[in-house]
Amino acid sequence: MKNKRKLFIDYDQTITESISAICNLYNIDYCDKVGFIKAKAHLVNDWNFKDQCTLINRKKIDSYFNSKRFFDAVNCIENSKAIINKLSETFDIYIVSMGGFRNLLLKKKWCKEYFPYAKFIGCNFLFHKDKRHVPMGENDIFIDDCVNNLINNNCGTRLLYGDIFSWNEENEKRGLFRRMWNWTEIYDYLMN
Ligand SMILES: [Mg+2]
Repeated sequence: MKNKRKLFIDYDQTITESISAICNLYNIDYCDKVGFIKAKAHLVNDWNFKDQCTLINRKKIDSYFNSKRFFDAVNCIENSKAIINKLSETFDIYIVSMGGFRNLLLKKKWCKEYFPYAKFIGCNFLFHKDKRHVPMGENDIFIDDCVNNLINNNCGTRLLYGDIFSWNEENEKRGLFRRMWNWTEIYDYLMN
């Protein structure tokens, strides 16, 4: 049987609404603290959440990313699960994600439950600053919301996922990658 093409997909903010999950945990934990202003996920534009989760620092944000609560709460982006399921008939699915040790452990478990056919590739922040070490080929496809992960990679087809954030806003200015606004668009692009 002919080998399927490989489709590499980022996790946070490409498959899942990770920003919303972090803001929800913050709003639950800090709503009765002095100076609290409700964090609005659609207004987050800072990698460290400093603009919306104003009472906490990056260390606390990381502790959310490393918690079981985060993975119990996080939702899939609209259509991501159904469309990745359909795409798995045509492509070998790899979920490739950055994180700390505990985050990657919990993420792998989550992926096994929600995408049992997908292979999980965890990239530990301690050892990797992007995903360049993950072998991807000329024939493969890589989808990520972080423009640096796409730049520092030789995958044959690289697609930028989702809305404009500080970590990808330079994309159009620099004419880098095709931006896919939603999963329906990805399906149409890859299957037609
Ligand atoms: Mg991401």
